This record gives sequence, structure tokens and C-alpha cells, in this order.
Amino acid sequence: MSTIASQSSLPATQTSAGTAARLHVVHDRDIDLAGAERGAAVFLSSLGVDLSQEGLGDTPARMAKAWAEFFSPRPFDMTTFPNDEGYGDLVLARDIPFRSICEHHLLPFTGTAHVGYLPGERILGLSKLARVVELFASRPQVQERLTQQVANWLRDQLAPLGVGVVLEAEHTCMTLRGVRATGAVTVTSAMHGLLREDARSREEFFALTGIRR
Ligand code: ZN
Repeated sequence: MSTIASQSSLPATQTSAGTAARLHVVHDRDIDLAGAERGAAVFLSSLGVDLSQEGLGDTPARMAKAWAEFFSPRPFDMTTFPNDEGYGDLVLARDIPFRSICEHHLLPFTGTAHVGYLPGERILGLSKLARVVELFASRPQVQERLTQQVANWLRDQLAPLGVGVVLEAEHTCMTLRGVRATGAVTVTSAMHGLLREDARSREEFFALTGIRR
């Protein structure tokens, strides 16, 4: 289970913004659907579910496909552009919906992500921030690690002056079972660079995300 980030040879797109750099991000996870289907059938039968019952015959296959989809982020190009205009204010994508899977119970947790950065020499398309969240959310996770992985990846790939990531999520392993804390929201954050060190930048970031703290 690993993420490949390959620097493609650039089509050297000459735009008014200068030269675009493209990083093609794909996932190389091996998925054995037949094996997953067999496993799902054993899992359900072991829980006393009668798979010969009408409507349940194809359930193991559907389960395998659904989980394979959960674990397969869509490939994307992370195209970055020179920050020719010298834009120096916070760039923020707020309320990005995401879903991930808690690695302890394999139950979904869902919520919204707020991802921002202070541009350095390069900027990137806002939609890519959502794709980075999807990339790391599409695997068994804990929310804290997911938050950090998104922040670290943007720090390493974009080299901005600062990065901030906040996730707000509801964990079904906590709301539908166990303590059944319906409506409980877990908030996590990860900051790098100026957003970590400079109180004013950090305040601005949190004000723009709309998070109360
Ligand atoms: Zn859990």
C-alpha cells in the first residue's frame, strides 16, 4: 500500500502564469476482488447471515466492490504554477466533504476538511486540495494521521510558506455503536510553517475556516 508520485516530464505549458509543473499521482494498491468476495461471504456467514436468502446472493460481491472503491482514490495531476503575481495571502478550500474508514472498526467516518496554504514560489489549483484529501482518506485511517498526511504532503510537494489542515468528522464507530454519541464531532488540525509559528496567520486561518476555538 503506497502512493506513487512521479514527476512527469513537463509538457512545459506556456501560459500567462509561466511554466506549469505536473505531478501525476496514482495509487498502486493491488486489489484481489475474488479474494475479497470469498472473505466477505465467510465474514457474513460467520455472523449468522444466511446468504441463500433472497436478495443476499450477490452481497459478498457487492461488498467487495464497494470496499475496493473506498480504498481506491482517483488518480490526479497536481499541476502547480509559478506564483508570478507574488500572491502572499492565505489560499483556503473550505468545507471539502470527505469520507474515510476508521482502521479500528472498518466503519466510515465522514465530515469536512478545510485545507489552506500560504503560497511560496508556486501555487496550485484549488480543486487539487480536495484530491489530496481523497488520496489519503481512501485507506484505513485514524483522523489524526489523515490530517497530518495531508499537511505533510502539501508541505513537501508545494513548499509553501505555511500549511493548515483542519478536519471535522463524525465517526460511525462512535455514533452508531459503542457509546452511541450521536452528533459528536471530532476536530483535528495540523499546521506547518508560518501557520504554525505566526499567531496572526494562524488566527486568520481559523477565522476563515469558521472553526470556533
Ligand atoms: Zn473506529
